[in-house]
Amino acid sequence: MNAAALERSLRKRLCAQTRIVAEDVRGYGGYAEYRQDEPEGSLKIAWDPFQYDLLGLVIHELCHPRLDGRLEVMGGQAEPAIEGIAENHAGYIRLSKARYAWWRREIKKRLDRGSLKSWLAA
Ligand SMILES: [Zn+2]
Repeated sequence: MNAAALERSLRKRLCAQTRIVAEDVRGYGGYAEYRQDEPEGSLKIAWDPFQYDLLGLVIHELCHPRLDGRLEVMGGQAEPAIEGIAENHAGYIRLSKARYAWWRREIKKRLDRGSLKSWLAA
């Protein structure tokens, strides 16, 4: 899968049914909850604003359902592979003003503002 194909696939997944909530996540910057039985089913991404940049986390979590199956052969090595691919793809997005603007706009639309207010207040 080249960068353009991965980009199309991640955009499609983000636009399907994604909600991003701010919360304190112990130990790492975020996590995702998928309905594994529904590839395009609801997706919640929990984001700890203190620990992780939002674009990087969203790309990382969107890469999982797209790449986990392909990386299964690597067993326990899938996570570092996803980390590398996601980091590389976030760089690809930042290379283009138009791509960057698209992700910024679409992520903001899906960010639960109430959760961000609560996170700031806690
Ligand atoms: Zn991961």
